[in-house]
Amino acid sequence: MSRRAPQPSLFDTPAEPGEPASRDEPEPGRYAQVVVDQQSRALDQAFTYAIPAHLETDLRVGSLVSVPFGPRRMAGWVVGFTAERPAARIRPIAGLLVDDPVFDEDGLALARWIAAHYLCPLRDALRCLMPPGAAREPLALASLTDAGRALPPSELARAPRQQQVLATLQAADAEAQVGDLAARVAGDDSSASEATVTAALNALAERGLVRVRRALAAPRVTELRRQVARVAQGADAETAEELRSRAPRQAEVLDALLAAEDGLPVAELSRGAVQALADKGLVTIMEEAVRRRPERAEMAGQEREFLALTPDQRCAFDRIDSALEAHEHRSLLLHGVTGSGKTEVYLHAINASLARGRGAIVLVPEIALTPQMVGRFRARFGDRLALLHSALGGGERFDEWARVERGEADLVVGARSAVFAPLHDIGVIVIDEEHERAYKQDSPPRYHAVEIARLRARQHDAVLLMGSATPALESYFAAEAGESAGSGDLGLCHLPARIDDRPLPEVEVIDLRGETLMGRGGTFSQRLLDALDQCLGRGEQAMLFLNRRGYSTFVMCRACGFTLECRDCSVSLIYHHGTRDMRCHHCDYALPMPDECPQCHSGDIGFHGLGTERVADQVTREFVAARVLRMDRDTTARKGAYADILGRFAAREANVLIGTQMIAKGHDFPDVTLVGVLNADTGLNRADFRASEASFQLLTQVAGRAGRADKPGKVLVQTYNPGHIAITSAAQHDYAAFYAHELAKRRENMYPPFARLVNLTIADESDQRALQIARNLAFQLQERGVQHRRGPLQFVGPAAAPLARLRGRYRYHLLLKGATIERLRAALVEALAALEDAAGAVTVDVDPLDMM
Ligand code: ADP
Ligand code: ZN
Ligand code: ZN
Repeated sequence: MSRRAPQPSLFDTPAEPGEPASRDEPEPGRYAQVVVDQQSRALDQAFTYAIPAHLETDLRVGSLVSVPFGPRRMAGWVVGFTAERPAARIRPIAGLLVDDPVFDEDGLALARWIAAHYLCPLRDALRCLMPPGAAREPLALASLTDAGRALPPSELARAPRQQQVLATLQAADAEAQVGDLAARVAGDDSSASEATVTAALNALAERGLVRVRRALAAPRVTELRRQVARVAQGADAETAEELRSRAPRQAEVLDALLAAEDGLPVAELSRGAVQALADKGLVTIMEEAVRRRPERAEMAGQEREFLALTPDQRCAFDRIDSALEAHEHRSLLLHGVTGSGKTEVYLHAINASLARGRGAIVLVPEIALTPQMVGRFRARFGDRLALLHSALGGGERFDEWARVERGEADLVVGARSAVFAPLHDIGVIVIDEEHERAYKQDSPPRYHAVEIARLRARQHDAVLLMGSATPALESYFAAEAGESAGSGDLGLCHLPARIDDRPLPEVEVIDLRGETLMGRGGTFSQRLLDALDQCLGRGEQAMLFLNRRGYSTFVMCRACGFTLECRDCSVSLIYHHGTRDMRCHHCDYALPMPDECPQCHSGDIGFHGLGTERVADQVTREFVAARVLRMDRDTTARKGAYADILGRFAAREANVLIGTQMIAKGHDFPDVTLVGVLNADTGLNRADFRASEASFQLLTQVAGRAGRADKPGKVLVQTYNPGHIAITSAAQHDYAAFYAHELAKRRENMYPPFARLVNLTIADESDQRALQIARNLAFQLQERGVQHRRGPLQFVGPAAAPLARLRGRYRYHLLLKGATIERLRAALVEALAALEDAAGAVTVDVDPLDMM
């Protein structure tokens, strides 16, 4: 994509009246290149603008400006300067929106790389660099100068408005948003409009008493007050039970409110249900003032002191420390079994970076799922830590980002997008569970945070430290090669044993073939029931894992085989007991549970498969001693629910935790001695070449939850595929065996790490048109040397995507494979250009992880 495309004709429109063309005679020989912040492929290029004289000194790469575009004004970023005057008529930049640049040259280089590598508009890539949760419009912020702080407002008695504004600023003693200031000055004086306050501020600025700057800022706190619901006197768990059958949603809301100590914001609950409860007098709703306070997605009570490292940990740490000492970029893959002390190595590495006055970033796959881990970081580093994650409200996220930018926090812990945090000098970037899919963004720009981290680490001469018990095949392959080449750029370190030589849990594979499953609906083998019974009998805790939420996976007619599918997506609807309906997990389409088969009207329609909800039911029924907690997307919809459930389990309020993959990650519960995997086969047979790897990783993670303290742990894995390599190697904690087996398969089929992939999804409301576009694209690719299923550049397909229909659109896909990515991308860019308008139907995913 050429950045020097000819100027579009849009620029040839006549100048608007009032355009300051004469006053600001542009300096000859210097023009600014601006990318407009507008979602449109047609605008995906930098446009050239003249620089008005009054901006000549202030304009930088990264400046956020307002530019005329046709008849409109648009916001855009300056991405460079040129001496070359385009042929078309040129218009000047209208104004600077924010005083300081919003990104620097490093940021721009990062964005350019993202745009080029992932084939996305530069605008989308630049958006990643913007602070999350900032107000749409930049805001004016006023603060006092020293003179302004010293001057008694009464001296301004002859200018009452200025006096009032000065007094208000002095009382606030902090920078104030001009809008807020107007509101405060107004009080009961309704004549104090924002305009008059602004005029007063300008006058004060001219006297040197006040400074006004424009910056991106958190939205003005619009939510100064919010509605909070609380359980009314007399309503209790029994009331909820009575409601359960008639009004399940109301019962759910009441449950949530009963569990919450201090009420819940109405905005976080189902509004209809809350209102209905309020109408019945079971719930009260009150207006309350909101204080903006980051939610603590972290558990307190973690170790404050740095632990003395074991020899294995020291070996890894020394390599990190010496790279920091030498101020050299280095990447290190830390392959350590669960509980081997990887996190302690991260903590030491961060400490070593901070001690040298450099910052650190820690990425975790999903921050809400790792409150213990965040708690450990907080215990060691306190307020130097900024948390960036999506569960924070917009204003909170902005505040945290701003703390980093101002240098008040130099350790950032967050999910994927935290990799862009505005640290000025990074010493270490840690990526925990580097194999996790969550690091790849599944909407444009489809970047992989590990790739971004690698680039940023290079820019800062920083250490990139990636840790996992089950590294992605590609990562391990590269690290092994780097280690044996001894180049020092990419290395591999092992932590082969758990701390204190605690044994890895014993894993027993239960062959479900020929086994009569116990429990209604057949969920538990006798072996697992016995083990659970013994575990609870000993007063210990158990975790039961299955890869599905909902009550059962799907409903099938036993007479004709009919299954209920989503109207718009080609997937089964899943039954949800709480709401008694069938739901699509892709688009949330819901239907009431049918009494008879919609196709043959047989009444013999029933559940197949199982879900967390049903397992919870069964366990409660079978074991008197069981106190069950369930963790899945349904029970964690509410903000703070994760930490709440995990906290209750840690506090031993329950002895059985049942959940989906959410419970597989990083939790450390010393009393868990039994982990049961109910259906290890889910996921093994997905139409994805990484299905086996994903299952292996998940099983290893789950197994790692057992026996983490001094009590030995046991893992029982139920499966219909007891001989599958993913299951046998996970059972034996044998990464090497899995790696060798899987690597051979990848080599044979030209998959990563032996090839780079691009997944193309073509979607259209018309099945025929989608297929036609897919075929055209295949043809265009062939014309450019990408061959069908052979050669160094090849494509597979077009074929119906595994998810053949999604939200009403038919989907086909083409998978491109190449020995290198560059030539593949080049051919693709040309092929897409040849498709012209139809290219809009194509989604490009470079280095895809999700093949659905
Ligand atoms: P991982 O991140 O590999 O799962 P952790 O860092 O969480 O492992 O360590 C597992 C357990 O061992 C934790 O309870 C931790 O406090 C403890 N631990 C880690 N390193 C040490 C050490 N050097 N000395 C003593 N205990 C340690
Ligand atoms: Zn039927
Ligand atoms: Zn759907």
